Amino acid sequence: MFSLSPLPFSEDALAPVISANTLSFHYGKHHKAYVDNLNNLVKGTEYESMDLSALIRAVADHPEKIGIFNNAAQVWNHAFYWSGLSRKGARVPSGKLAQLIDEGFGSFDAMKIKLAEAAVGQFGSGWAWLVQDKAGKLQVTKTGNAGVPFTQGLTPLITVDVWEHAYYLDYQNRRADYVKAVIDQLIDWDFAANGLSA
Ligand code: MN
Repeated sequence: MFSLSPLPFSEDALAPVISANTLSFHYGKHHKAYVDNLNNLVKGTEYESMDLSALIRAVADHPEKIGIFNNAAQVWNHAFYWSGLSRKGARVPSGKLAQLIDEGFGSFDAMKIKLAEAAVGQFGSGWAWLVQDKAGKLQVTKTGNAGVPFTQGLTPLITVDVWEHAYYLDYQNRRADYVKAVIDQLIDWDFAANGLSA
């Protein structure tokens, strides 16, 4: 069975960019519900003993398994999102990540603009991502609803949750303000660098 991964910081650790109130609902209610739903859906099936990412890959292209996919991918996406956020993290990329960003986008600022555009431009619920493709190059992409890039052969480095539950308590309809604050003040670029292939 799958468990709710511990939040890697206290619920007030991201304030004022993301409030403790938002984290209480987002982690304690939404993220937890995806875990509970997933466990209910896979109970007694071949999926219950699988590694989470292997399970996601196994059901990704099977429309009749969309309920399992949606909950499993949301469990993975949220744990990944939390891991990439920190008030104390690296505010600018360094080393190989900085080099790949410059090669792919021209500059760190240009990449941040692309990431923000993807996050703001995602119609409805979903996620914006910085990913590394199979050739080793970086891309900005977005996925709808529970979509996760690794089912498309892309390695996620960082993500921004743009479901309304991620920002509505703090920013109401101002998704762009939430996105800018997260990108400028919370994304830990050392975490992103750790995801790079060798
Ligand atoms: Mn969410």
